[in-house]
Amino acid sequence: MSDDLTNASERTAIQRLSSALDLPDFDKGWVWLAGAGPGDPGLATALGLHAIAEADVILHDALVNERLLLLAKPCTEIVYAGKRAGKRSCKQSDISRTLVSLAKKGNRVLRLKGGDPLVFGRGAEEALVLARAGVPFRIVPGVTAGIGGLAYAGIPVTHRDTNRVVTFLTGHGADGKLPTLDWQAIARGSHTIVMYMARKYAGEIAQHLIAAGRRRQEPAAIVSQASFSDQTVIETTLDGLGAAAATSDAPAILVVGDNVKLRDGMDWLGAMSGKMLAPPAGAEPLSDVS
Ligand code: SAH
Repeated sequence: MSDDLTNASERTAIQRLSSALDLPDFDKGWVWLAGAGPGDPGLATALGLHAIAEADVILHDALVNERLLLLAKPCTEIVYAGKRAGKRSCKQSDISRTLVSLAKKGNRVLRLKGGDPLVFGRGAEEALVLARAGVPFRIVPGVTAGIGGLAYAGIPVTHRDTNRVVTFLTGHGADGKLPTLDWQAIARGSHTIVMYMARKYAGEIAQHLIAAGRRRQEPAAIVSQASFSDQTVIETTLDGLGAAAATSDAPAILVVGDNVKLRDGMDWLGAMSGKMLAPPAGAEPLSDVS
């Protein structure tokens, strides 16, 4: 960001990018439901940046990197409409109603959510309210924490040698309790299980999975503040997941499966901060690379 308090040069740059990419106009009276990515502002999409620079009103979640909001027009109204465990939160029905009324007044309304708006983000609920109210909307997908956040920890969600199926689940039901899930089916369904909003019930989830036949010693990891500068990764086992979660920071993505072991060779972020990448187990030395 330059010293220019109006951020005019940044917005001009975004306008140039938007026109080079032939991005759609953000018309008055529309709502764009966009994902901001998991944290690193570089993971926002070009459409997302375009929306931020053009919006008249932005309603954003707690998990959105505030740096992105600095790209809004100086007169843009920025409204915090977050919901976060243990914090004061806005009612979903109020948020949806606000989106409708702001759009009907002719504003360009940006609903900006962490990650992807349609992954455990209530984006679908908001879109359906808009549809029922006859408000036109566009959905701008984002990089979800359960994929991009794990990538920042050097954990691939799929790898040919470990899994061809992935399960994404939420550990937090609408009533704040652990959702009633078919643990047998989840335990058998895929080797890799990625969990959102699962810190609170991590121990219970792990015990359900073990009771359903998963190995106690199976690798597991907790990635907190994924892709933010203070990202931390705890490697543990399925059996140790509950205790590890209790020491972890929010927000966190939990993952169970052998993919976690691939971190030994793939922790590119750790390597950048001085930790050497270990060659993958059994790798041939590369004699032709100097
Ligand atoms: N729509 C979001 C998910 C919202 S649910 C997405 O697609 O990523 C909120 C949960 O997402 C958090 O409890 C946590 O499990 C996960 N999450 C979001 N951002 C995260 C981050 N930067 N690091 C770790 N977990 C994150």
